[in-house]
Amino acid sequence: MKIQTTAIHAGDRKPAQSQIPVSTPVHFAASWICADQAEQDRIFAHEQHGFAYSRYANPTNQALEELITALENGYGALACASGMVALQHAILSALLERPKKVLCARDIYGATLKLLYDVLGPFGIETILVDANNPAEVAQAIAAHQPGALLIETISNPTLRVADIPALAQLCRAAQVALLVDNTFATPLLVRPMDLGAHIVIHSSTKYLGGHGDAMGGLIVSDEAHFETIRRLSRIAGPILGPMECFLTMRGIKTFPLRMERHCQNARALAAWLRTHPGVERVFYTDDPNHPDRAIIDRLLPADLYGGMVSFELKGARKPEVFAFLDRLKLCVKATSLGDVHTLVLYPWIASHRDVPLEQKATMDLRENLVRFSVGIEAVEDIIDDIRQALG
Ligand SMILES: *Cc1c(COP(=O)(O)O)cnc(C)c1O
Repeated sequence: MKIQTTAIHAGDRKPAQSQIPVSTPVHFAASWICADQAEQDRIFAHEQHGFAYSRYANPTNQALEELITALENGYGALACASGMVALQHAILSALLERPKKVLCARDIYGATLKLLYDVLGPFGIETILVDANNPAEVAQAIAAHQPGALLIETISNPTLRVADIPALAQLCRAAQVALLVDNTFATPLLVRPMDLGAHIVIHSSTKYLGGHGDAMGGLIVSDEAHFETIRRLSRIAGPILGPMECFLTMRGIKTFPLRMERHCQNARALAAWLRTHPGVERVFYTDDPNHPDRAIIDRLLPADLYGGMVSFELKGARKPEVFAFLDRLKLCVKATSLGDVHTLVLYPWIASHRDVPLEQKATMDLRENLVRFSVGIEAVEDIIDDIRQALG
C-alpha cells in the first residue's frame, strides 16, 4: 500500500473494546460504517437505532442529550449549536402544526425578541408581547389572538421576575397552546418546568450548565408529543452542537449542582450587603421579602436557592457614572454572558437591552443606572471587596 493510502486508513476505524471508558469519548466521525447494507437500510428506515450520519445522531451528543433529559425530567432532548438556535428550532417545531403566532413574555432576553421579530417575523410568524407575570392578561391574550405557543423565561433578565409556570401551563393546555420555557437562569436545580406542565424547555448551556465560559451550546428538552417533530426537523435543518462542545458541556454539567449552590449562596450574601450600601438605590434579588412575585417564588423555588443573578441600581447615576463604576472593577469580569465560575458584570442599558425601545424599558422597570451581576463561585468576600472599592 502506498503512503498516501496508509495515511488515510492505518490505525483508524477500530471496533469498540469490551472495556468501557469512564467518560464518553468525543466522537468526531461524520458518518458510521454498518456491518452490512441490510443494517444500514434498517437504520435509514428508523427500524433500528444506530448511527449513520452525525447530523442525525452522534454518540457524544446522545450522551449529553440523555443527561439533560434526565435532569429536566423530559422525554427526549436535542443538543444545538447555541441557545438561540435551540430557541429557534423549538419555536419552529412547536408551531409546525399550530397557528404561526407566538405569545411572548415582555420581560425576556433581548436576542429572543430579535429572533422573533427580525428572523421569524419576515417568514410570517407573528409575535404578541404579554406580561407573563399576570396570568389574567395571558388568558385574555390567548383568547384574543389564539397563538400557537407561549414563550417565557423561568427567571427573567435583568429584573428577575418569576413566572407562575403551573398557572400558565394550565391556560396553555386548555387552549392547545405549546408552553416553551427558557430555563437558562433557573437551571433544573431550582425549577424543572416540565414537572410544572411545560411542553418544551430550552437552555443556553453556554451559561450555568457549561459553566466555564468556554463552550457555546443550546439544549431543547421536550415531552413525547413534541419530540418526534423536534428530532425529525433537526435531521434536515441540522441545528446540532458539535461533539467537542457536547463533551465540554457534559463535563460542565457534572459539577453544575455544586457550582449552582455556591452561585446562590454568594448571590444572596452580595444582595444582603448591597442593601446596606448608601450608594445603592434598588437591589433586585429573588430573596427580597417585597419581591413582586414573592408567593410564586416560595412555591416554585427550593428554600435558600434563589439563583445566581443580582441586579442593582447605582444611586443617582447616569451612563457616565455607571461607566466609571464598571471601569473601577478589578476582579469582576466585564464581559457579556452569565453563569460562569467567575463573576461577570453587564450593563444591560448598552448591552443586552440596547435595542429595546425606551418605553418598553420603562414597562420592564429597567433604568439607566442598573447593572447586572452574574455572581461567580469565588470567595464572596473578594467579590464584595471589589464592588466596595468600585462604589467608592
Ligand atoms: C444567553 C441566553 C440565550 C442565548 O443563548 P446563546 O447560547 O448565547 O445563543 C437565551 N436565553 C437566555 C435566557 C440567555 O441568557
